[in-house]
Amino acid sequence: MAKPFASSADLGEKRQSLEVLAEGVYALTAEGDPNVGAIEAEDFLVCFEALATPVAARQWLARLREHTDKPIRYLVLSHYHAVRVLGASAFGADVIVTHDKTRELIAERGEQDWASEYARMPRLFKEPESIPGLTWPTATFSDTFTIDLGGDRGDLVLAYCGRGHTEGDLVAWLPRRRVMFAGDLVESQAALYTGDAFHHDWSTTTLDKVASFGAETLVGGRGAVARGKAGVDAAIGQTRDFLAVMLREAGAAGTLKEAFDRTHRALAPRYGSWPIFEHCLPFNVSRLWDQLHGVERPRIWTAERDREVWDQLQS
Ligand SMILES: [Zn+2]
Repeated sequence: MAKPFASSADLGEKRQSLEVLAEGVYALTAEGDPNVGAIEAEDFLVCFEALATPVAARQWLARLREHTDKPIRYLVLSHYHAVRVLGASAFGADVIVTHDKTRELIAERGEQDWASEYARMPRLFKEPESIPGLTWPTATFSDTFTIDLGGDRGDLVLAYCGRGHTEGDLVAWLPRRRVMFAGDLVESQAALYTGDAFHHDWSTTTLDKVASFGAETLVGGRGAVARGKAGVDAAIGQTRDFLAVMLREAGAAGTLKEAFDRTHRALAPRYGSWPIFEHCLPFNVSRLWDQLHGVERPRIWTAERDREVWDQLQS
């Protein structure tokens, strides 16, 4: 029997959990759906990630408002993917921050990515007509961007760690609490999406840089909060291993289909039951195959190309 396209048949609501990671530091996790967070400054809030629609974002903000009524000054978006950014209007933030590359990617492929992700994961797009249009950052940076939280709260440092899940991922690092929000550069007990990735950089220098901060609590893009040094190491290690297995298996294959079959066989015992594994793998291997054959930048995913790759590899 043919597998239903991507996550189009995944319609079961996930249970969302708001966790207080430290005083004034919040994460909302959702059993493998995209995670979001917030950090309290002395007299304002920094929100991290925006979910797929304003309606979805407003549900998160209603929960956050049980803890704090400070105004949202900054909305930080880890990368350009639609399910992270299209809910931005609900935050009413003074400043929307991304990496420089993320702004370029939104201009280059934001429209196609919106259509692609909507078809792949319709459940995440609560009331899609509430999206007013593409989300544009109002501040961008290349290396680091520091937000002074005021009082004795220290800084929140937004940092670029190199090419990884996309060309322009950032992490948010709270040194005073040793908490990191890593976006999709790290997943914890959730499968990786690498359809727009730079596998070699990500699995080596980029994850080295992420690890170098020495986080003791890490919120990845999906999955549970990683706690303690061992938990953070495990999440980063899992991400690295997933990429290393993909590189090894696809690198030894003679055709794209063989690369998919080998990768699937090698990853499934450890990762096959984790959220979005089957959904992601055809897109992941397609991109990796391109990369191994000299295609430097990820090709743009369109709803049509999604279906072609799915039918070729996963059906
Ligand atoms: Zn992503």
